[in-house]
Amino acid sequence: MVQNPIIAIDGFASTGKSTVARALSQHFRLPFIDSGAFYRGITLFAIENGFVKNNKVDQGGLEPKLTELDFKYDSSSSHLHLNGQNISEKIRQPEIAKHVSSISSIDFVRDFVLKELRALGTDGLVMDGRDIGTVVFPHADYKFFFIAKPEVRAQRRYQELKEKGVVTSYQEVLNNLIHRDKTDSGREVAPLVKAEDAIEIDTSELNAQEVLSSAVQIIESK
Ligand code: C5P
Repeated sequence: MVQNPIIAIDGFASTGKSTVARALSQHFRLPFIDSGAFYRGITLFAIENGFVKNNKVDQGGLEPKLTELDFKYDSSSSHLHLNGQNISEKIRQPEIAKHVSSISSIDFVRDFVLKELRALGTDGLVMDGRDIGTVVFPHADYKFFFIAKPEVRAQRRYQELKEKGVVTSYQEVLNNLIHRDKTDSGREVAPLVKAEDAIEIDTSELNAQEVLSSAVQIIESK
């Protein structure tokens, strides 16, 4: 296996990317970076500062404010701090999930996050997201692309949110996943697509341990 590899995991929402990325990072003793947390963090900031009104983003108002954002990411706990506040819990709320895809389609938002992500390291890491193997680290040593049936993903995410005490319904979660997949795949800048050299894994019928084992096997054999 490659020394100090970059391992990129992309794919659709709630296919188990973060769970497997975190487990891989522990297995290979590499930092884990959840890139989606940054897009969620900017979404939280935009909502709290009144830049999202009637489901529309005030891009002109938001853009100059990005210079005020100071993100600190702790790769061991995967906690994200924004301007000194731990926002890790807040960014998982359905209200954030509802708006994050439109915020992440904005070119200046993507430029901002791209710089933040690359500043966290350029080798020896596991990162999950939508454009890691295509845009953030196109030369990543190992690339995976996760897919799964929407109903399976919605059930898993609904269960996760319920366990955290978040008030939502299965249908709301399913609708949000379908909406995000469509927006993320259809946007102009850095759309969600499988990198040509990525290995696709369908996680519909597999548990996290099984996905982890097959990813470890692939990595160790190359
Ligand atoms: O990974 P997670 O589901 O938390 O990501 C939330 C959203 O952030 C995605 O639906 C997508 O709109 C955006 N995202 C992105 N590019 C990434 C990671 C996340 O556009 N690399």
